[in-house]
Amino acid sequence: MTTPAANIPTVKLLINGEFVESAATEWKDIINPATQEVLGRVPFATQDEINAAVSSAREAFKTWRKTSIGVRSRIFLKYQQLIRENMSELAAILTAEQGKTLADAEGDVFRGLEVVEHASAIGNLQLGEMANNVAGGVDTYTLLQPLGVCAGITPFNFPAMIPLWMFPMAIATGNTFVLKPSEQDPMVTMRLVELAVEAGIPAGVLNVIHGGKDAVNAICDHKDIKAVSFVGSTPVGTHVYNRATQAGKRAQCMMGAKNHAIVMPDANKEQTLNAIAGSAFGAAGQRCMALSVVILVGESAEWIPELVAKAKTLKVNAGHEKGTDVGPLISTAAKARVYGFVEAGVSEGARLELDGRNPKVSGYDKGNFIGPTLFSQVTTDMSIYREEIFGPVLCVLTAKSMDDAIDIINTNTLGNGTAVFTRSGAAARHFQEEIDVGQVGINVPIPVPVPLFSFTGSRGSKLGDLGPYGKQVVQFYTQTKTITARWFDEDEVGGPVNTTITLK
Ligand code: NAD
Repeated sequence: MTTPAANIPTVKLLINGEFVESAATEWKDIINPATQEVLGRVPFATQDEINAAVSSAREAFKTWRKTSIGVRSRIFLKYQQLIRENMSELAAILTAEQGKTLADAEGDVFRGLEVVEHASAIGNLQLGEMANNVAGGVDTYTLLQPLGVCAGITPFNFPAMIPLWMFPMAIATGNTFVLKPSEQDPMVTMRLVELAVEAGIPAGVLNVIHGGKDAVNAICDHKDIKAVSFVGSTPVGTHVYNRATQAGKRAQCMMGAKNHAIVMPDANKEQTLNAIAGSAFGAAGQRCMALSVVILVGESAEWIPELVAKAKTLKVNAGHEKGTDVGPLISTAAKARVYGFVEAGVSEGARLELDGRNPKVSGYDKGNFIGPTLFSQVTTDMSIYREEIFGPVLCVLTAKSMDDAIDIINTNTLGNGTAVFTRSGAAARHFQEEIDVGQVGINVPIPVPVPLFSFTGSRGSKLGDLGPYGKQVVQFYTQTKTITARWFDEDEVGGPVNTTITLK
């Protein structure tokens, strides 16, 4: 942690509509993971700055909560247009600070853009219900009202999509927001925030603070924050959930994963191997929905050499270089961690079919690279199976039957995503019924739902009942108020005092 040098750009806070320089004494370098170039510096906001951001959101809520549907909707229509117009610039910033390929960076922005488009339909999403004549002359109806100041805490791996999972829907439903982006790659998030302000989000409605553990704890503890949405690792998410809910807040925490695929011998071999290689090794395995475990059932166990051959076709290089399939890991620490897992896998007795360590990447010898790595003969007691590696490392297990494979998956503590590859409708339906994982792909390796639905990771991958977008998030960001109403004509004659509770 250092004080920023004059020639390195600093990342600003957004407080009450102003992009301001932090008075922080702690700063962190934002580093290009392919080159180690320092791209900028991010402050660890002071407690006073965090309080100022929350106060500005609390003040703005007084008017924003009453803003008409049309005004809210049109801001997000404008916002989606601005994101589209700036797509290339956003992707370039994202690739420079995060490492993923430019095509994948555009995908990251695009999946967030879909939530912005969804937010612009808020008029239809935030409808209440009404029942006419629940008793003589009495109607009951519901209002979905915003909560107040909400907050979001985001991870490094989708620095565009995940902030866009959060603040557009929170703000469209009438809340105000404090965002705490990942301190590892906050620059694309800030460009998206600038575009949100340009689209017309008023001062105080969206605020941004930066930092790490202390900023997150301050959000969990702050008395004026009503709800916290978190995406990140399981240990941190569990801490955030406990701390925020103990402080009386709503919380939803989308957390770590160990996503398994089952391959049946009747699957379309070429399609299946392509899908698995793309999912396991794309984005350098740093996707919460990446397939990191494959269970080959029956004769499909013989497909390992072909899977290795597919993995070998993927090109490791800097994300902005043409033809790159696998970019660098986010940091030198992440690289050391993933290399440590590969060593552990070898010493625990798994068979290292493909070793991606120390790839030659011409011109980028300082990059945090590891190429596709594949272990076979993995057992469920090994650390490479139990832990989330978050790198391009695929663990291959075998099973005699689909039911044996389902047992392995259902016994794993995590439940973010899973997939089955088969040509049998009956087998796929059996899998769909018996598997205890929140997001299921049938011949689809990364089944992330579009925002018409919600992101529905389950078990150890999620805390809180409601997902981060789709219909569920409207529930998360609103309080249902139920009104039972009776109106009297002026000349209606009153009866005796009614001491019973029945309305007829
Ligand atoms: P992380 O948990 O290290 O960080 C997430 C956020 O928490 C960051 O904003 C960070 O500043 C903050 N933080 C870090 N350490 C903290 C601490 N000790 N106390 C309080 N706050 C802390 O996660 P990451 O490495 O940035 O992201 C990768 C993880 O996120 C993986 O586990 C991945 O599976 C998960 N993830 C899950 C989903 C999902 O939808 N389930 C989506 C994306 C990523």
